Amino acid sequence: MNQSNKKKLEYIKDIGVNYFLQDSPRNWFEKTYQKNNSASNEKLIEIQKIIEAINKHQTPLKKTANKLVVYDGNIDARVMFIGEAPGKDEDEQGLPFVGKAGQLLNKMLTAIKLDRNEVYITNVVNWRPPDNRTPNDEEILEFLPFLQQQIDVVNPDYIFLLGGVAAKAILSTPIALGKLRGKWHEYKSLKLNKKIDTIASYHPAFLLRSPQYKKASWQDLQMLQKKLDNEK
Ligand code: URA
Repeated sequence: MNQSNKKKLEYIKDIGVNYFLQDSPRNWFEKTYQKNNSASNEKLIEIQKIIEAINKHQTPLKKTANKLVVYDGNIDARVMFIGEAPGKDEDEQGLPFVGKAGQLLNKMLTAIKLDRNEVYITNVVNWRPPDNRTPNDEEILEFLPFLQQQIDVVNPDYIFLLGGVAAKAILSTPIALGKLRGKWHEYKSLKLNKKIDTIASYHPAFLLRSPQYKKASWQDLQMLQKKLDNEK
């Protein structure tokens, strides 16, 4: 059994699920990497500009953090995953979701036949808040334009929000995650003049602390998988 199948089975076993939607692996790489190279280069330049703007932006969080954390994955991705803010490991490595929560996120992706290299992974806030505290509303609003700009550049077909902070920022609602999850929402990009199908679900760090919510998380992941499968 290859490593990716092993990881998927581990995750699935963990959450008590015993069926699959499809038998064969999705060959997404082809579709993703077939995209026009010069368009990808333009995107890369645009993302680089956003990273520079975030880096120049003055915020108290920058003083206590170590490395700027913007994104990992693929700028041509059709799915964008948005978390909360970097933790200790992310702050050290300058990449999102590389600690324990990131390992669970990798398993979650594998379980729906996605790979970290074919999705775009980012956070609402790009500097680690001191002591890993939850970003406050002011910080969320401060970083939101940078996140919206990344959405406009990547132009994903789907957005998957990991946790309450991402849901609050992108869906612009105080409604609790438990009520938001399990259904599709729309994020409207004014620049792209398009509505992006968006789902909000539990944050992997929360799932590590409260594994009883993994089943609901798996249902949300499968909603995404169904959409992707229907397009094949
Ligand atoms: N939690 C997040 O929300 N983002 C990360 O990058 C890591 C942990």
